[in-house]
Amino acid sequence: MKKLVKGLLDFQRHGLPAYRATFARLANGQTPDCLFITCADSRVVPNLLVSTDPGDLFVMRNVGNMVSPSDATGQSVADWSEAAAVEFALLHLPVEDVVVCGHSSCGAMKALLAGNVRDERAPNLGNWLDLGRAALQTLERGGPVGEGLPPADRLSQLNVLQQMEHLRTYPLVRERLAAGTLRLHGWWFDIRHAQVLVYRPDRERFVPIDEVEGERMLAELGANSVNPSSTAA
Ligand code: ZN
Repeated sequence: MKKLVKGLLDFQRHGLPAYRATFARLANGQTPDCLFITCADSRVVPNLLVSTDPGDLFVMRNVGNMVSPSDATGQSVADWSEAAAVEFALLHLPVEDVVVCGHSSCGAMKALLAGNVRDERAPNLGNWLDLGRAALQTLERGGPVGEGLPPADRLSQLNVLQQMEHLRTYPLVRERLAAGTLRLHGWWFDIRHAQVLVYRPDRERFVPIDEVEGERMLAELGANSVNPSSTAA
């Protein structure tokens, strides 16, 4: 905790001047255009990875970057928190893109893979990790996603795709996707190489977002803008 207090004082002394205008502009509201769903893992730092400023990302984090699916009426079947964040982002913020970002060496995926999610001291954690169980079944069936990676990392990539499927169970999400006003993206952070990968449906695997892939993504985003007025961004 000392690190936090010292860091706060350091920010006030040295970092804040560069951000003062940004925070003043944001004082009365936020207009992020991206909902970023990722793991609570301390090694995943969204704003650092994508060079974003305060106000740019609406971030939802939890153990294993899970999203509980909804029933036919749009009610979450497991937990309100994630569903509430999705509803808030889609109804009250100008969100056009949702990123689900998993990562390597994820403790939640290791626990799922080891089959030791049941601990009487942590009943909620066990229930929560059940949201990744379908990805575990996909892993057992095999496939191209995550080929060559350790099993826990393959599971983590499959879990990203599984949670994207869970997102699609929400009528609100399906309506926006059908209307072309929302895009879903699967990302995965390789901690050792500090590299972010994106899922390419056409290649059925995650590929590094390097200069070439980044340019391809920018061109595709420009061609498939969900809001013509925002293409300049
Ligand atoms: Zn994790």
